[in-house]
Amino acid sequence: MQYHLNGFKPGNYQVPDAVRKPYPTPLIEDLPSDVDVLIVGTGPAGLTMARQMAEFADIRTCIVDMAAGPLLFGRADGISCRTIEIMEAFNSSEMVVKETYQLKQNTFWEPDPSNPSHIRRKEKIADARAGLSEFTHGIVNQARLHELLTTGMENSVANLRPHYSREFIDLEIDESLSQDMGAHPITATFKRTDSAGEGKIETVKARFIVGCDGGRSGVRKSLGITLEGDSANKAWGVMDILLNTDFPDIRVKSFIQSKDHGAVMTIPREGGYLIRFYVEMDSIKKDKRATDIKVTEQDLIAKAQQIFHPYTLDVKEVAWWSIYSVGQRLADRFDNRPSDCTDKVIPRAFVAGDACHTHSPKGGWGLNTSLPDTFNLGWKMAAVLQGRSHPKLLATYSTERRKVANQLINADRELSKLVATRPTADDASEQARIDTAEIEAFMKRQSGFVAGTSIEYFPSYICTGQDHQHLATGFKIGQRFHSVEATRLCDGRSQHLGHLVKADGRWRLFIFAGNEDPIDQSSAFYQCVDFLAHAPASPTVKYTAKGADADACIDTYAVFQRQDLSMPDLHNFLWPAKGKYGLRDYEKVFHTPPENDLYDLRGIDRKQGCIVVVRPDQHVANIVPVKAHQELAAFFDNFMIAQS
Ligand SMILES: Cc1cc2nc3c(=O)[nH]c(=O)nc-3n(C[C@H](O)[C@H](O)[C@H](O)COP(=O)(O)OP(=O)(O)OC[C@H]3O[C@@H](n4cnc5c(N)ncnc54)[C@H](O)[C@@H]3O)c2cc1C
Repeated sequence: MQYHLNGFKPGNYQVPDAVRKPYPTPLIEDLPSDVDVLIVGTGPAGLTMARQMAEFADIRTCIVDMAAGPLLFGRADGISCRTIEIMEAFNSSEMVVKETYQLKQNTFWEPDPSNPSHIRRKEKIADARAGLSEFTHGIVNQARLHELLTTGMENSVANLRPHYSREFIDLEIDESLSQDMGAHPITATFKRTDSAGEGKIETVKARFIVGCDGGRSGVRKSLGITLEGDSANKAWGVMDILLNTDFPDIRVKSFIQSKDHGAVMTIPREGGYLIRFYVEMDSIKKDKRATDIKVTEQDLIAKAQQIFHPYTLDVKEVAWWSIYSVGQRLADRFDNRPSDCTDKVIPRAFVAGDACHTHSPKGGWGLNTSLPDTFNLGWKMAAVLQGRSHPKLLATYSTERRKVANQLINADRELSKLVATRPTADDASEQARIDTAEIEAFMKRQSGFVAGTSIEYFPSYICTGQDHQHLATGFKIGQRFHSVEATRLCDGRSQHLGHLVKADGRWRLFIFAGNEDPIDQSSAFYQCVDFLAHAPASPTVKYTAKGADADACIDTYAVFQRQDLSMPDLHNFLWPAKGKYGLRDYEKVFHTPPENDLYDLRGIDRKQGCIVVVRPDQHVANIVPVKAHQELAAFFDNFMIAQS
């Protein structure tokens, strides 16, 4: 798809350039007086939290932002493979795939040794993330991703819309109510910022609050949570431009190091014409901010032109620009509980995204860490609010996501050193140059982390079964379920198994059959399915609400090594009758495609098979032998609440 030929236009890229208009300013409606979940901030973290909550008609959610309306320009633009997988869980990956620039290659440019005032291409290499996911790293305006999330919220059962022009002022937690799940212990205060209502104060009571209000988070400050780490010492100018150039790699992500003028990183953008430039700026003195550096967009262009010599940059339009710099800082905790308390204490307030971790823009991690933060928290909060899971589940958000944030801060420190060519404010002796070979090595080493696909949560009661990892070596416990294609038995259609794991709060069981006959009632496979269908200890029996469909809480799929089965041969539980007419669901049974055997691809034990338990956020929670009924039951008994 091509767009922005005659100038950058924000908005819905499905609407042609000629008629695309920015969103109208949203109407202002009073905030509700009380809700279940109050979200502050409509960045990627806040919108993902809201998008997840909007899946549930019985959860009352309110999301607010001090901005007058949705984001239109700039900020992050890299959409990692994992982020697109998450968008698939919200049924929105198609637009992302269709509209983004797909990043396949990187080039590295350096001073030409025979004429050092010129740059020359050192090498062009395939992007290190290729093949880590069925999706490719994409580049698109952050605002467009926001729109996909917001549209999903509006079209959901909750019909949720953000409230703009509300500035968060403060919050109080009534500690006498904080361990009472039915209570609304949070009182948050907001100030209207629109001209009609300017200064008007509103209060909202909530059962939970999630601060997704960015690097200077007021929610974080109200909770007394501190950010620890280094303050920024390096500024980068960032601009999205439309230009003509004779630089041959303008449609490839490029790291460009000049001899005397610093460095530029270019990232081609969606639509075929737009390019993002990150231009290295001066060091920032202690106690100063990036915004204290006095430059204009013309200064950024002039600097880039010097770096690109002998190539020319004829800039026609600057769609957005900013000076951007953030130090590597991490919150000491991600919820309101004291650091040393047990998971028996229920957290009622959370921080997510930039509110609890900040870092430089170079790795493109801001959006791609913030969005999965709340994808981790959302399903847990829904399960607790709906009385399906014990509230202790909420404490795992902080443990799991703080680990990721810590890795992020360390990776960003390393990358920042590699990409800094000038002395830093703190170390005037450092005269390092960008070593493009080191950046390349870093990218290869960290490719899984950069793509978000190797993020792995600590072993815990929701990431367990490591003793059985050998039964499916390609589904790493703690990591996201690495999708693989299977063939649907009923109609021969190819289906990515990972795409069955939607963001609907349900758990998934993938039963990979061993080599016994699955129709034989004495086989381990048949016995396992029969246990799930009927045994009082079965998690699907115990945790499914009375009268609900058999897959309403735990959704079970079967995968076979053979293709000669037909649905009526199989246990009823694998093609359950559902909905008001009791219609049969034929889409739960698969076999391995003969030409691309998924048992081989994911290291599944052909003889024994196994059950892979997948969390609502697509992470692998457990692997159990097909015969281990009690072990499977005990896993769920640890944190779920019986619905009988
Ligand atoms: C100016 C800027 C430029 C950036 N450039 C890049 C870039 O080039 N590359 C890159 O990878 N990343 C960039 N980022 C970072 C990236 O956008 C963030 O990492 C990502 O958006 C984090 O998402 P988030 O949801 O945690 O917070 P944010 O996206 O920051 O969203 C926070 C939201 O909270 C709202 N808010 C803040 N305070 C209040 C309050 N008191 N009351 C109500 N609402 C409030 C804000 O208006 C905002 O909408 C940039 C960020 C900024 C701010």
